Amino acid sequence: MKKLMTSCLLLFTLVALSANTTTDDTYQYRVDLSNIQDDKVQVALTTPQITKNKINFYFPKIVPGTYSIYDFGRFITEFKALDQAGQPLIVERKDINTFRISDAKKLHTITYKVDDTFDATSGTPVYGMSGTSIDKDRGVVLNGHGFFGYFEDMKDRSFSIEITKPTDYYGATGMKAISSNASKDVFEAINYNYLVDMPLLYAKPDTATLKVGNAEVLIAIDSPSGVVTSAYVASNFAELLKAEKAYMGGTLPVSKYAFLMHFLSPGQQVGTGALEHNYSSLYVLPDVPQEQWIQPLMDIAAHEFFHIITPLNVHSEHIHYFDFNDPKMSQHLWMYEGVTEYFSHHAQLVGGLTNLEHFMGQMAQKVDNNLQTYTDQLPFTKMSRYCLDRYSSEYGNVYEKGALIGLCLDVLLRKHTNGKMGLMDLMNQLMTTYGKDRPFKDKKLFKDIASLSHPEIKTFFKRYVAGAASLPLGEILAEIGLNYKAPQAFMDYTYGNISLGYNQDAGRVIITSTGNLNEFGKKMGYKDGDEILRINGEAFPEQAPFSLFSKQKANFKEGELLVLDIVRKDDTGKEQNIQLSAPIQKVSMPGQASIEAMSQLTDAQKQLRKQWLQGATKN
Ligand SMILES: [Zn+2]
Repeated sequence: MKKLMTSCLLLFTLVALSANTTTDDTYQYRVDLSNIQDDKVQVALTTPQITKNKINFYFPKIVPGTYSIYDFGRFITEFKALDQAGQPLIVERKDINTFRISDAKKLHTITYKVDDTFDATSGTPVYGMSGTSIDKDRGVVLNGHGFFGYFEDMKDRSFSIEITKPTDYYGATGMKAISSNASKDVFEAINYNYLVDMPLLYAKPDTATLKVGNAEVLIAIDSPSGVVTSAYVASNFAELLKAEKAYMGGTLPVSKYAFLMHFLSPGQQVGTGALEHNYSSLYVLPDVPQEQWIQPLMDIAAHEFFHIITPLNVHSEHIHYFDFNDPKMSQHLWMYEGVTEYFSHHAQLVGGLTNLEHFMGQMAQKVDNNLQTYTDQLPFTKMSRYCLDRYSSEYGNVYEKGALIGLCLDVLLRKHTNGKMGLMDLMNQLMTTYGKDRPFKDKKLFKDIASLSHPEIKTFFKRYVAGAASLPLGEILAEIGLNYKAPQAFMDYTYGNISLGYNQDAGRVIITSTGNLNEFGKKMGYKDGDEILRINGEAFPEQAPFSLFSKQKANFKEGELLVLDIVRKDDTGKEQNIQLSAPIQKVSMPGQASIEAMSQLTDAQKQLRKQWLQGATKN
């Protein structure tokens, strides 16, 4: 980032501030999106009255749903605390996220600049949907936790947010504006948690609105090349949301919801995905033509939308009293993420948007991912509790084993309640017992679920969620007439388990990762970035270059040499031609799980299958 002279901008801000002299109980934020310079936005806050001599002002270290420490304070610069006359007060930066202000009773105004997270070159990379993008040509992805701070012990005051914007921008959000005109929007948040739960997407508008039962759903798209449009997404999401509504039991727990989707510009390098909120979800995704990947997009949207059940309406005290700067994690990621992921696939199956074969393939893939990428024996509750530190590399298993836990529970619940209660019914009951404003105690949840359903469910939790045992998929899937085959390791020839890509400029196959080399791969001596010219003397065909791998592999013989002609760059970036070789050998391969429908079903299986192929039983 370039350092810039800001006296002009600051002067403008102060003049604007002096017109606004109310300092009562509320935070009054002003954000200027019409004056973006070097990807930074000026923010001003008229503070609530402070009664302490010294006070801490925080930016979040972490936000709910992200499960990573991001330290949003690192994107804040030129922080100033001023009294009513505009005189600076002493500010000490205690740590990356904490500003300690002296003489705080005199405090009237805070000003600072927010830098975007998309271009950060150091520190933990912030996933796009959890971060901020500030680009004067494209608009702003405005996550409250990246823009706004709060005073210690004063998170529960209300916030007024005034956003000045270019006149051709529309601010899409799940919030209802207090007032809005061509150049200014004003929003109100009842407290800090609400504020960070309400992301905004400011861009040239491409929006569509859907009516789904009792809810009004906004779809806002910002696709730089225009290959994704709100009209196309809305026509596909209409069916999806209808299916989810029916699955949940006929009504949605929200009356307003927004899908906010920012697609990346060419060259933007940022982690992609989506983040759930109570009344919206924010997506940062590659700008791929919509027809090519509407199914994965529906899977992600289905997942985020189901989060309105959990954790948003069913959550533990850890989430309810979320400490943005000293977080304690709940042990129930199996539910917040796992059950949500399961619902996102199962609801599409139940609603007729996908079929049983597709669903079984997805679940089998989750088994493979669980076994090949994560530690199956690590108790899920333990992983959950330490997902920020000790087990951060195991977190991704929430979408794999987590979803399989959801599948097992759904079948077991229906079996033990004679089809009266499925997993969605259980979640509906938990929403009634607890809900948005009433958290459960982390330690009591298994007991509570057992008393709402059946004692056997507690045994399942103890062994397979809090315990280290592998899920009894064979046994449970047989209940609904599905045949599960665990992956069988087998011996085969390989190239060493390298990840491959294609370098368009050079027209060569490139090794993109050597992170998971097997025994044979290690002997070959690959390096990341190696480009392959020939395999055993044969060059890659221009059409379908990757076909050469299988063609050559068909001729592999134990003990004969595999010889690859490689182009490797040296330390100065100069290309060197080298040869890599090793005697061909078979290695143990992990094999793939399979789930198939049984051809003959017993009456009990038929009945449970039928009961399982629905969402909430009470419509
Ligand atoms: Zn999720």
